[in-house]
Amino acid sequence: MDTHDLAIVGVGKIARDQHIPAIAATPAFTLKATASRNTGVEGVARFDQLDALLTTHPEISCISLCTPPQVRYADARRALLAGRHVMLEKPPGATLSEVHDLIALAKQQGVALFATWHSRHAASVQAAAKWLQDKDIQRVEVIWKEDVRRWHPGQDWIWQAGGLGVFDPGINALSVLSEIYPRAVHLTGAELFFPANRDTPIAADLTFNDPGGAEMIAAFDWRQTGPQTWDIRIETAQGTATLSDGGAKLSVDGAQLSEGPDHEYRSLYARFAKLVARSEIDVDLSPMVHVSDAFTLGRRQVVDAFDW
Ligand code: NAP
Repeated sequence: MDTHDLAIVGVGKIARDQHIPAIAATPAFTLKATASRNTGVEGVARFDQLDALLTTHPEISCISLCTPPQVRYADARRALLAGRHVMLEKPPGATLSEVHDLIALAKQQGVALFATWHSRHAASVQAAAKWLQDKDIQRVEVIWKEDVRRWHPGQDWIWQAGGLGVFDPGINALSVLSEIYPRAVHLTGAELFFPANRDTPIAADLTFNDPGGAEMIAAFDWRQTGPQTWDIRIETAQGTATLSDGGAKLSVDGAQLSEGPDHEYRSLYARFAKLVARSEIDVDLSPMVHVSDAFTLGRRQVVDAFDW
């Protein structure tokens, strides 16, 4: 098997929690360098900026971008222009049009571009997709409620324009929904709740149109303390399925059908290795289209100011 030298850009929470261990567990990749303004990884070449890394290490063929979405495009473009294969954390950019530009550039350069949706790789997502295939779906409820102070401590970029606010976790729910649902749906309405002192919403209520006739709603909220909820509940004529814990567990009418360990990021790097081997592009923008539509259609309500 080919082994590719890889660099991480943006050594923050997700790079340390998930990317570095997943790369270490993936024989196809070796972490050779990082580009991050304030930190590095022990035993690995450290750069402040991606440009210097790309020039100094022509042998590093793969770049994994783990920065916040607002700054990802510029580095992705640099890496693609330098002929490198690129993997993007979710969401793949701050806007749809910048990701379209990256797709065109990756095609022109003949390199791999992978927009990752880690929640699609949760243990029971494929089992849910399979179960739903032949069901008569009546109602779908997506409930993604978590405590922002617990999961995003001090991350100011999520409250700044382009940081998505509660859609940062909410887009994970939409990535799972669009993976398991047997047909495309579209957003028809949104109520967005903005803290008085922030640019992005702390909560959102969404409604969708399913051309197949099912009622479909989603509720995202970052103000949930105590038990955290990442569930998709689907009522069908053949029973009610609940995909819970962000896609880890599937039950039908209370009986567990599927559960498994968390290998989301190992699965992402295994997929990236396949794309790199064939210089292929895998970019599905459908979760991001729903978020963009929510900002387009959403009615804005101002709620209590948020402070850490
Ligand atoms: P983070 O901890 O804030 O880390 C991002 C790193 O990017 C920072 O440590 C920073 O390192 C670098 N950076 C470069 N420009 C920056 C800027 N303008 N503002 C802030 N940081 C900047 O964020 P994260 O939680 O790892 O999230 C990064 C991406 O991964 C997001 O798109 C997020 O949605 C996604 N993600 C996060 C999680 C999670 O659980 N946290 C899970 C899945 C996906 P330097 O200061 O050293 O440059």
